[in-house]
Amino acid sequence: MNYSDNYYVRTKAYSLDSNKLNESIQCDVCIIGAGLSGISTAYYLNKANPELTIVILEKNKVGWGATGRNGGQLLHGFSSEDYSRQKHSEDEIKTLWNFTVDAVREVKKNIKELKIDCDLIEGYLLTSVTKSHDEELKRFVDQLQNQFEYKSARYLSKNQMQDYFDSPYYQSAMFDSECGQIHPLNYCLGLAKEVLKNKNCKIYEETEVLSYKQNGKIKIQLTNNFEVTADKMVLCCNAYLNNLNKELRRKIMPVKTYVSAYTDIPEKYLSAYFKRKITVGDMLFVLNYFRLDGNSNLIFGGGVSYSNIDPINLENSLKKSIQKILPGIEKFKALCTWSGHVAITANRFPHIGAISRDIFFAQGYSGHGLALTTMVGKMLAQTLTSYDSNFRLFEKIRHHNFPGFGLVDTPLLVLAMSYFKLKDYLGLK
Ligand SMILES: Cc1cc2nc3c(=O)[nH]c(=O)nc-3n(C[C@H](O)[C@H](O)[C@H](O)COP(=O)(O)OP(=O)(O)OC[C@H]3O[C@@H](n4cnc5c(N)ncnc54)[C@H](O)[C@@H]3O)c2cc1C
Repeated sequence: MNYSDNYYVRTKAYSLDSNKLNESIQCDVCIIGAGLSGISTAYYLNKANPELTIVILEKNKVGWGATGRNGGQLLHGFSSEDYSRQKHSEDEIKTLWNFTVDAVREVKKNIKELKIDCDLIEGYLLTSVTKSHDEELKRFVDQLQNQFEYKSARYLSKNQMQDYFDSPYYQSAMFDSECGQIHPLNYCLGLAKEVLKNKNCKIYEETEVLSYKQNGKIKIQLTNNFEVTADKMVLCCNAYLNNLNKELRRKIMPVKTYVSAYTDIPEKYLSAYFKRKITVGDMLFVLNYFRLDGNSNLIFGGGVSYSNIDPINLENSLKKSIQKILPGIEKFKALCTWSGHVAITANRFPHIGAISRDIFFAQGYSGHGLALTTMVGKMLAQTLTSYDSNFRLFEKIRHHNFPGFGLVDTPLLVLAMSYFKLKDYLGLK
């Protein structure tokens, strides 16, 4: 399938030289899925050992999935910071936190070193809507500064927040100077271009994996009847995994979320809210996430569908939130609005591990994978070639199956999620 029509595809800075796979081939490592998890793994594997033959199989296009559709928010942390049900020590929790901070730094390092044209802008506000959010926010900043010794985040009262961003909807914020925004598709394509500089690395688009089996070597069956034989394999299919591995699929629930791009809002309207180009996300369960990019375009994301049924009018469904947060802006017409699937895990921590000594996987970033995928790719590459102590910490995270075996979206689940949405609506966080 070609790319969906979205702002990132319309402003793509790179095109790749890649084909369908029309023969059976062998390689050292085969990566399935060419989103940022797959491309990052290939990038770091190739860096560690340029002699390795690496093949990436992508059923659509590079960055076609969540990678090329997301909100572009480059954030540290996980989707959940609740470690209470995990068996990690204090030191291990701190290591996991540092891993996420390194993820943001690593993306920025790659952009700089490889001169990737992807509109990096630093500066992020996590905003509170209710009084209890505000209290939670203060505790969170305190935890970052004291427990994690992370000094780039600070609490802002409503007055202080207004120097960065002003909205009647938000009470206070955490400002973080390291997090920010990028054009996610261009970052992914820029990294993929780097991978393709080595003739030992190949990306095959429009090449779908049907199944695989391991009997000594790994045999990967394609839908066009050709086969890839590999020593090692990495599954990076995330929300689009379908039935390729039922055990992994049970751990994630694909959830739809929506993004609009506004490219024609006059400066005077924007400057009433945005005092600088900044990225904003709020603390609601069904959060609103938006940013003013380098070209003064507003990229506004939010909404969610657990049942996979889209609102009749996507653009209008997001406008309800825009009207509350940025009143007046809702009268403008979006250039385009699109949807994408986020892979949610039950505990909202990413699901990363090994199926056997030779088969690895990464999925379930729970809407928080733009920065993490780079660092996870680095960790997987390290684990494939030798050992990475962080990998053990991710394997230690306990993941439960979703009801309905994760293969269908059950009414029970829709009901549970509606409950959280209702709590947001009533301000009962
Ligand atoms: C609308 C939206 C907004 C988001 N906003 C943010 C944000 O602002 N900040 C943030 O941190 N995160 C955000 N996320 C999450 C983030 O985009 C993802 O966590 C991240 O992109 C995951 O990358 P990935 O490579 O693991 O998966 P994907 O990018 O989804 O890639 C998986 C790839 O696998 C391929 N594939 C699947 N099955 C097969 C097969 N059988 N054979 C071959 N190929 C296959 C798919 O075609 C796809 O290209 C958002 C996600 C969405 C959908």
